[in-house]
Amino acid sequence: MCPASVQEVIDKTNRYIFNTYRRAPIVLTRGKGSTVWDGNGKEYLDLVSGIAVLNVGHLNPGVVEAIHRQSETLMQVSNLFYSEPQAGLAELLVNNSFADKVFFCNSGAEANEAAIKLARKYSHDRGNAGRSEIITMEGSFHGRTMAALSATGQKRFHNGFEPMLPGFRYVPFNDAGALEKAVTGDTCAVMMEPIQGEGGVNCPSPDYLKQVRGICDRAELLLIFDEVQVGMGRTGRLFAYEHYGVEPDIMTLAKGLGGGIPIGAMLGTDKIAPSFSPGTHASTFGGNPLSTAAGIAALGILLKEGFLETCEKRGRYFFDGLTALKKKHAVVTDVRGKGLILAMELGREGADVVTRCMDQGVLLNCTMDRVLRFIPPLTITEQEIDIALKVLDQSLSVPG
Ligand code: PLP
Repeated sequence: MCPASVQEVIDKTNRYIFNTYRRAPIVLTRGKGSTVWDGNGKEYLDLVSGIAVLNVGHLNPGVVEAIHRQSETLMQVSNLFYSEPQAGLAELLVNNSFADKVFFCNSGAEANEAAIKLARKYSHDRGNAGRSEIITMEGSFHGRTMAALSATGQKRFHNGFEPMLPGFRYVPFNDAGALEKAVTGDTCAVMMEPIQGEGGVNCPSPDYLKQVRGICDRAELLLIFDEVQVGMGRTGRLFAYEHYGVEPDIMTLAKGLGGGIPIGAMLGTDKIAPSFSPGTHASTFGGNPLSTAAGIAALGILLKEGFLETCEKRGRYFFDGLTALKKKHAVVTDVRGKGLILAMELGREGADVVTRCMDQGVLLNCTMDRVLRFIPPLTITEQEIDIALKVLDQSLSVPG
């Protein structure tokens, strides 16, 4: 791609696409592993990975092969019929999680819509039609569709789109007392990210999720974990809940599930599954053969012996490197995260650091204005992490 056509793509995008994204002036044309290239041939280390999507790396050969094979056989069937890849991915997810059943959809927001609907329907089916309120967390992010947005505990995403849907109440994250107090006779579920991603990579204190589980059990509430960002190996375990010794009743997934192909899923237990009976919920593309074939390949890679252990090790290596940079640069106020979802909080806005890193060939992103977030492919090597740390060190050295 010549430089002129790079500008053409940018101009055409700005001309024809709704301006809902703050985009960097980079046209990405190719990717492999942890590396992407732009239209000018410039190489970047990708610490964004499609926002925690490319867990097995760009163009992972196993995923490419599965897509290729499936695309020559069958690409789409309606859910009025059965298909083998859909059944196969559901079996793999169930065999490797707390869950008994899976509902497939196409994105994280849709998975959360399914979870919200299932929680309400289960409550209704138990004769508790009035019990429909779901408690979610301040600082959470559950997606942009109307119910997922209403569940999202951040006012800045609601602005201009009010009224939010009724039936959601927000409590501070990491505060079991506040949650306990917020439960009323109308509450049917608690919905939360085990580790908040968009909210700034906020980790729970060690016993918090167990306390939440206890509150849910005592009040007979369903516990919904949104693992759209932290699931699929991101934290060094297949699912983040595994770190905390608790299991949810419902879990939502998307992002890394399809190895780069759009897919979402809602998983639940047999206890609540009957509430989703024929006709109650549906998705035209949900569990499409192409996306589920890609998902089987991607999940197979995550489950390979040693893969997640290596991810956890790389996460610690990266975390230690970021901690060393914190000691060196006074502007860094905190380093946190688990596995390969890591964050460096600054005492000021981080946009200029992101731009400088980008100029030096490292893509990263900044959330909550001040939190640099690192969500690379889980296949990233120590050498690549060293490059990222070196570039970050240089970028932090420039006064903001
Ligand atoms: N839930 C969480 C925790 C997320 O991080 C996101 C997206 O960032 C979503 C839901 C929404 O996912 P999607 O953009 O696929 O709708």
